[in-house]
Amino acid sequence: MVALPLVFDAPRRAGPPRHLADLDTAERRAAVVELGLPAYRADQVARHYFARLTADVDAMTDLPAGARRALAELVPPLVTPVTEQTCDDGTTRKTLWRGHDGTLAETVLMGYPDRATVCVSSQAGCGMVCPFCATGQGGLQRNLSTAEIVDQVRQAAAAARDGALGVPSRVSNVVFMGMGEPLANYQRVVRALRRIIDPAPDGLGISARGVTVSTVGLAPAIDRLAAEGLPVTLAVSLHAPDDELRDTLVPVNNRWKVAEVLDAARRYATTTGRRVSIEYALIRDVNDQPWRADLLATMLRQRIGTKRVHVNLIPLNPTPGSQWDASPRRVQDEFVARLQAAGVTCTVRDTRGREIAAACGQLAADRSSTTP
Ligand code: SAH
Repeated sequence: MVALPLVFDAPRRAGPPRHLADLDTAERRAAVVELGLPAYRADQVARHYFARLTADVDAMTDLPAGARRALAELVPPLVTPVTEQTCDDGTTRKTLWRGHDGTLAETVLMGYPDRATVCVSSQAGCGMVCPFCATGQGGLQRNLSTAEIVDQVRQAAAAARDGALGVPSRVSNVVFMGMGEPLANYQRVVRALRRIIDPAPDGLGISARGVTVSTVGLAPAIDRLAAEGLPVTLAVSLHAPDDELRDTLVPVNNRWKVAEVLDAARRYATTTGRRVSIEYALIRDVNDQPWRADLLATMLRQRIGTKRVHVNLIPLNPTPGSQWDASPRRVQDEFVARLQAAGVTCTVRDTRGREIAAACGQLAADRSSTTP
């Protein structure tokens, strides 16, 4: 008798329980019928969740009590807030939350005069090991489920509506710039994108123009995303225009080189008609030299074209144990000036959330660092 390889009988690690936000319209109706209820109850409960932003069945008073009890099974608590911290005069708010299995992750909500943005995590931890990023130092715990991603947005949108940022605001932007590499959790992230973009009762109805997926540059997954027909913005974390340096700053560059990543970004821009963003964290004496600004401009002009690309410079945010710093102001100004002189549009990202370790690259979901 041949013994089965162990992998076949290894117990499957149970994922989070099934949730409404994991399901598309047909699956949602089938799930409701399975619970012994008429299919139209599916749209009712979905409207509560996606339009009124509530997961509390007791608040769904237009549903009969028996139906509410049964439907509770479709909205199990998946994303349970543990701590909330605010800074920037109450306009930046970080939530550390716990999953059904104790996994920790973080979400950041940012208010601006005219809009609110939620920065979501797509994985608990991250496996990309970029040395300047706090999330990368802790490794990957697990992928987040579709509903765990969507529920971060749903809760943030409810909080913003209820005045968590000072004044009631509407979440118009969702950025996949929290913990994790979204394209390494591809299918769950794409399903989450549909739930975020589709209008109620199928989703939160946030315009695709306001949604950004940020990636280290998994070139084949960028091509796959372009083919999904979701006109979301793509952001590529480049951080260096040359392979020699990028191999160390973004280790996945050893697999997909700068040129391959930029070519995939160009195809994304061509297919979707959306301008791609290039993220570049300016690190003092590491990647901030004038010649690198010039090389970056040349690479972008050659591979993507100035009309289809925008550079977002991020002053490096400090992370525990790292010896790296942000570039001095005059070095940053010179870098910006050189890109602009070459016709490449460029903005410098604000450093929201720094004091509460909520800024880019600072999310570590470390409970000790978030205890007030
Ligand atoms: N894994 C995805 C999503 C994370 S987005 C990605 O890498 O794109 C977070 C952004 O912040 C990325 O551009 C990341 O490179 C950048 N970042 C990471 N650490 C940082 C730090 N210490 N300071 C500034 N930006 C940082």
